[in-house]
Amino acid sequence: MPFRAEILRGLLGADLVGFQQRLAAQNFVRLARHLLGLRYEGQSIQVDGRKVKAGAFPISIDTAEMEKQAADAAVQARAKQIRAELGDPKTIILGVDRLDYTKGIELRLKAFRELLSDGKLKVGDAVMVQVATPSRERVEHYQALRVKVEREVGRINGEYGKVGVPAVHYLHQSYSRSELSALYSAADVMMVTPLRDGMNLVAKEYVASRADSGGALVLSEFAGAATELRQAFLCNPHDPDGVKDALLRAVSAEPAELKRRMRVMQRHLRTHDVANWARSFLNELGVPDTK
Ligand code: UDP
Repeated sequence: MPFRAEILRGLLGADLVGFQQRLAAQNFVRLARHLLGLRYEGQSIQVDGRKVKAGAFPISIDTAEMEKQAADAAVQARAKQIRAELGDPKTIILGVDRLDYTKGIELRLKAFRELLSDGKLKVGDAVMVQVATPSRERVEHYQALRVKVEREVGRINGEYGKVGVPAVHYLHQSYSRSELSALYSAADVMMVTPLRDGMNLVAKEYVASRADSGGALVLSEFAGAATELRQAFLCNPHDPDGVKDALLRAVSAEPAELKRRMRVMQRHLRTHDVANWARSFLNELGVPDTK
């Protein structure tokens, strides 16, 4: 990053710098020393007679609101309708991402294609829905990614789809929160496979939306959310066989196991919600809690 020293200096204008992950905060302190020659003690950096503290403040969602929305009768009815429109398959596999090269959309499609090719998943039994919301469309790199993703979707549907039964439903659109909530409710397996992601809120939203405590989350180790959502089916997105294995385990897990995993993650998100995230900043700064 050519402007890294300038960015560091800019961030050091704050008294407290929050990162999604502890390692990122440690890296920031290390770089302040390495690139700017600043002294530090623990996680506090000395800048012009001031102390700048770096720490981990993992962001979260409004868990109660997500749970409420998912339990809404209209959202549940829409979830049923989505399942019916997809032909009531045994397994709906969902991805929801910005169309961004960090999100690992291609590797996820490839894992699905190889499982179809190996006969481990069957079109009709399993269907993938990939929402890829438009992102940075004027940037050439993103245009190239779109071509690659759409070519892969075309290849999978061309090879494995049947008339009226595509293997992948690809949606290059943005959805409202209620439609997303219905999609989360309808999906048996949520695939979140970024190569790198500070947090990934979609993973947390899926967990909070499972009013029935069912469903499986396949989650990349390189998403910040993996630090908290340990009961997900974790995978290394750089290991194609590992991704396929995690997806298969998620597809074939027993309902009781899925419920157990989901409940632990839901309990975590109820206490570690976005209000708690905001409070943690204020607590660190010594601002009294008014609530
Ligand atoms: N989102 C949305 N509509 C869509 C797709 C995504 O509102 O069609 C929201 C999603 O609910 C989530 C956010 O966009 O809150 C994406 O956040 P995330 O941390 O997963 O990824 P980012 O895009 O910030 O890298």
